[in-house]
Amino acid sequence: MDAAYGIAVFWKGFLSNRNGFVVGIPSVPLTELYGSVREPIERNHGQVRTRCGVAEVQICAGRVIGVRLDDGTAVDADYYVSAVTFDRLLKILPEDLRDQKPFSNLRRLRVSPITGIHLWFDRTVMPEPFLTSLDQTIQWVFNKTSLYGGGGPQPGQYLQIVVSASYGFSQRPQEEIVDLCRKELAQLIPAVGEAKLIRSVVIRENAATFSPQPGCDEWRPHQQTAVPNLLVAGDWTQTGWPATMESAVRSGYQAAEAILGLEGRPTRLVQPELPATGLARWFTRA
Ligand SMILES: Cc1cc2nc3c(=O)[nH]c(=O)nc-3n(C[C@H](O)[C@H](O)[C@H](O)COP(=O)(O)OP(=O)(O)OC[C@H]3O[C@@H](n4cnc5c(N)ncnc54)[C@H](O)[C@@H]3O)c2cc1C
Repeated sequence: MDAAYGIAVFWKGFLSNRNGFVVGIPSVPLTELYGSVREPIERNHGQVRTRCGVAEVQICAGRVIGVRLDDGTAVDADYYVSAVTFDRLLKILPEDLRDQKPFSNLRRLRVSPITGIHLWFDRTVMPEPFLTSLDQTIQWVFNKTSLYGGGGPQPGQYLQIVVSASYGFSQRPQEEIVDLCRKELAQLIPAVGEAKLIRSVVIRENAATFSPQPGCDEWRPHQQTAVPNLLVAGDWTQTGWPATMESAVRSGYQAAEAILGLEGRPTRLVQPELPATGLARWFTRA
């Protein structure tokens, strides 16, 4: 990983501002979280269509003239913001554009795997909403039972373990992964050793996020591309952040800022970062 991103996360999370460490955890499933944006968009005369992929971005005379959806429907607009992953973008662009910058640079970006290990126990083993583990393979343990609003009528507890950059899991059988996680979890939470594992699911995402390799800033495109009415958003675009939700959100704001700029209405939308406070201020002045 590019050391600059590691240092930046450490700086922002632990050094620069006393609230930088605060972690936000969704207390509802992601579909519900995303679903909440539908109402304000529709109120402003927009439309939200789900489960309809873009099959092709159509270009004519250097501008996007429309997109074709998987079901063949054509959609046109003044501006087009692609928020798909970079490998997917390369697939839906016309072939000649894929070889032109900034799109040709996307082939240089790399991806990183994340594995989620879902475990259901016959009893409550963990009172905390989440834990972070050091010096183990397992990194995060989320108490899904409490995060999703209590245990309900079923006894037991549902925990999710998350392992980022889980390259070591790519070829391992699921049972081995579950055994390893359960063993490490028991070291972290002794009650796990007594509990019965009722069910387990391992979800490996081999291309979960883009990986900020050294020098990747040279290949991450700005939201405004060489095609005047085509913008790109996504955690992999130029945001100054590694592959995080912060990066994805910032990229969306930056794409919207670029459109407003093109429309002659420059507006700042990106939310300011937490200011450096206390001793950290002296470092930012240097
Ligand atoms: C298991 C896991 C855990 C993570 N944990 C954290 C965390 O704790 N904190 C954090 O900050 N980040 C975390 N991340 C990273 C975070 O989820 C990403 O950085 C973020 O979601 C990237 O957002 P994005 O909008 O760039 O891309 P994505 O969220 O990948 O969105 C791309 C979208 O494009 C859609 N799409 C693809 N092809 C097409 C097409 N042809 N037409 C239309 N739509 C298409 C996809 O369905 C998808 O919805 C995690 C990621 C994973 C996988």
